[in-house]
Amino acid sequence: MKLLYHLMLVSSLLVQCTEYAGIDKKNLAKVPDNFRLPIVYNADYAMGPFGTTTLLKFVHPFDVAKASKVAAHLHRAYWGLANVPAETTHKELLEVHTPEYIALLENHTAAAVAKIVEIPPLAKLPNWLVDRYVLAPMRRQTAGTLLAAQLALKHGWAINLGGGFHHAKPGSGEGFCVYGDIQLAAKRYLDAHPMHKVMIIDLDAHRGNGHAQAFINEPRVTIFDVYGGNNYPQQDLELCQRIDFNFPLDIGPGTCIDDAVYLGLLQRSLAQAIEAAKPDFIIYNAGTDILIGDRLGGMKVSAQGIIKRDAMVFHEALTRSIPVVMLLSGGYTDESNEVISASIDNLLVLTGKAQA
Ligand SMILES: [Zn+2]
Repeated sequence: MKLLYHLMLVSSLLVQCTEYAGIDKKNLAKVPDNFRLPIVYNADYAMGPFGTTTLLKFVHPFDVAKASKVAAHLHRAYWGLANVPAETTHKELLEVHTPEYIALLENHTAAAVAKIVEIPPLAKLPNWLVDRYVLAPMRRQTAGTLLAAQLALKHGWAINLGGGFHHAKPGSGEGFCVYGDIQLAAKRYLDAHPMHKVMIIDLDAHRGNGHAQAFINEPRVTIFDVYGGNNYPQQDLELCQRIDFNFPLDIGPGTCIDDAVYLGLLQRSLAQAIEAAKPDFIIYNAGTDILIGDRLGGMKVSAQGIIKRDAMVFHEALTRSIPVVMLLSGGYTDESNEVISASIDNLLVLTGKAQA
């Protein structure tokens, strides 16, 4: 079984296909300005060579083509997206990570990544291969978060069709998260605006322990986090004290976190928290693993509930003229990309970009 698992992974890394290739080239050059969105994407976000998504599903809960599918949906409606021209560099990563951690990733790539993304057979692959097909896409998505943060300041809102690596800490990675894109975007903003405040609204089904650790002594960052209290991560519960607005939900047997419970909580607390924190910039981690049927999230929020959730966050930000950048983060069902696409369609109406 273990050999089969390993063979499937290796073959998935070698199969070539062009299912999602060419999307960027098609749309970027000739799209008129009024059809361009502050939505950030690059075909190299996908882990593994193009077209390996079906095989990768056998070894990992990630739908590595989630971003590609959402981008394809937007392209079909003739929207132009913002391209991410390069990966985050070594020097940029050192702004939020320790030199030891970055050296570990660079010198013992396969072993380190196998542990972080929880795919043990990766440790047997050559370092260059793991860097090319696992780390490079993550660095590209991290650069995407930085670009989206810039676009949000210009347009009032922006979305990165990736990122949201909220478990990555300054000195380590875990829970599929290698690079701390959220803390890098927040740090960049605060470096440029030292008197301002940032709010991280983390609505992924898992606790954002990475940025909680990174900003343990940073009063200019407010954290609002709603997550399954029984979900991973359980190992660093002391970091919950860093979360300013902390909402662990009981997702054990006999409980049901449905639309009414989830959206009711947001209605009671989100606007109030924003009023109290008075942020100048919002980073919204919009994990879709709260969707009913997501085995890693354990909640029962409907697709319509997620669309309402995203709209609620955008509404609270936009009505106060606070720039908001949204990141996709977790979401492990086959329907995740469809829910995100439908939600973005709704947000385009909300932001005045499209008609209902
Ligand atoms: Zn999650």
